[in-house]
Amino acid sequence: MLAHLHLLLELAKTRQSFKAIWAQPRRIKCEHCHESFVYLAWGRVGATVEAWRGTAAASNLPGLGRERISQLVAKASSKKRMGAALCPHCRRYQEWMIRASRSRPFWWSVIVGVLSGATAGALYSLNVGPVKPLDAIFQEIFEATAIGASAGVGLGLLLGSIFGLASGVQLEREELGSLTEKEWEELVGRQRRQPAIAFFARLGRKRKASVELVPLPLRDETET
Ligand SMILES: [Zn+2]
Repeated sequence: MLAHLHLLLELAKTRQSFKAIWAQPRRIKCEHCHESFVYLAWGRVGATVEAWRGTAAASNLPGLGRERISQLVAKASSKKRMGAALCPHCRRYQEWMIRASRSRPFWWSVIVGVLSGATAGALYSLNVGPVKPLDAIFQEIFEATAIGASAGVGLGLLLGSIFGLASGVQLEREELGSLTEKEWEELVGRQRRQPAIAFFARLGRKRKASVELVPLPLRDETET
């Protein structure tokens, strides 16, 4: 009965999903060569809005969706130090870009190490050998978890260095996500109203027609 009621309530609702990519040119000063340049920070956001059928809100789902998307874009783009691009002058990444690119594989590896260590420890302790007192079981699980964690740290550092951004000068790598001040001025000259649109187009990324592109004005991070 309750299941049917739930179904009826679901039928009485209407929903719509929205996806967007925000693109924000950011001016920073290179920590290596101290020249300023403009790179493009961008990200994806998505939201599903719903309303009761026949209500005013239901007929205004696109409006609700736009509102929700712009809130998400404002939140996502407000963070400092986002995105990654080589400095067009010295062809190096900023340290924080490298750190960010390595932290995700690192933490995943640590989590997997801890979980598999704890699981292996528990399976071993409970199934191998004679029946043990509880503190001995905990001790064995703790030791296996510690081994798993340190293996996770080691593997995480390795994965981070493989899959993360490389430090050092990279002359070979093509970089479309950063511009010198002069190149930025030229781009603004061509696309005065929304330079972020032209900047995103430079990246050559495919975007479905259903995914809206939200261009944001230049954010200057050289002062902070
Ligand atoms: Zn530089």
